[in-house]
Amino acid sequence: MITRNDIVEEALRNGFIDVGFTTAEPFDTHREFLCEHRDEYGWAETVGLALMGGTDPRTVLPEAKSIIVLMEAYFRESLPPSLEAHFGRCYLDDDRMTKDGLTLRVKAVRSFLRDNGIDSKVPFNIPHRMAAARAGMGTFGKNCLFFSSRAARGSSWVLPITLVVDRAFEPDEPTVRMGCPDWCRNACVSACPTRALRGNGAIDPRKCISYMTYFGREITPRELREPMGMYVYGCDICQNVCPRNRPWLSANLPVNERVTAKAGNFDLVALLHMDRDYFLAKVWPHMFYMSPDDLWKWKMNVARVMGNSGDERYVPELERAFGENDDPRTTGMIAWALGRIGTPRARKALESFLPKTEGPVREEISSALAVCKS
Ligand code: SF4
Ligand code: SF4
Repeated sequence: MITRNDIVEEALRNGFIDVGFTTAEPFDTHREFLCEHRDEYGWAETVGLALMGGTDPRTVLPEAKSIIVLMEAYFRESLPPSLEAHFGRCYLDDDRMTKDGLTLRVKAVRSFLRDNGIDSKVPFNIPHRMAAARAGMGTFGKNCLFFSSRAARGSSWVLPITLVVDRAFEPDEPTVRMGCPDWCRNACVSACPTRALRGNGAIDPRKCISYMTYFGREITPRELREPMGMYVYGCDICQNVCPRNRPWLSANLPVNERVTAKAGNFDLVALLHMDRDYFLAKVWPHMFYMSPDDLWKWKMNVARVMGNSGDERYVPELERAFGENDDPRTTGMIAWALGRIGTPRARKALESFLPKTEGPVREEISSALAVCKS
């Protein structure tokens, strides 16, 4: 019969940076938390995340006895700055659709378990950070992220993967607590541009840039366009400013060649003008929360970023994109972006759009003209 140690060795052999064990008891406190915060997390059920269902491991494996947590480091190689500026790191080398990287390594560990008579499931909706804390692998931060205690220099660039198994293993000592040093003056809370972080280790996910870049269905509210800054998809601000992440951010990491090779596909100008064919060939299935039916949203986000850049080189591109798009959420944001750049050419473009438009887009153009510098 295999031991905990055998499993740890197999996981490390497959590239995981840490392994922990916890029981398959339900995550009752997490369930209570979700019940108390239905307003903030109700959207997650509607997009299929099924958070509530994940609070009892026995719903996915009735014979569940233990949870094995495999810790993955998703930022172990350096990423092109041009991508880090606009995309959350965890989405840049994500194989959830292609299933050609991390998925294969998880499969290898599961095969090892199966060969040794252990059935396993990898439910996507188990509260994986809580499982990792229960397995003694690290602590939480006030930015609501999980920090490894034994790997990745104690940073939060980690992704716990939970394997629910039908064999009981001795659980590790839980570390379910906040691990922030007293001397940190809540840098993450102050830095969060949309005030999503509440300061007590809680977040309103609906205010988080990550949520708003890919799940929001309306044109981004005006008061959030500047705070959302330069991010097209995801956000890493509360991780970048965190002193617990400094040691990892100062490490000399090898280059991620796979991500570097595709950096050009995510050029902002190319994204602004992309059609469905370009999207399917160059972008999909990366960052799959925004599907081929969401090109309007990709372009709306890119237009916002161009506006926030203040770079007048984007004016002709935005002008052209206005004519290429008919979704008012995209054209409205293009108008806003031109107003924010505000050069004479941007003003001229806005004036030329005005007679052809009506409704909310016309209102956006009028507001943009009002803030143009000249
Ligand atoms: S990811 Fe960005 S928007 Fe979300 S909580 Fe962190 S800093 Fe705030
Ligand atoms: S920035 Fe400070 S308060 Fe926020 S998670 Fe990091 S250590 Fe904790």
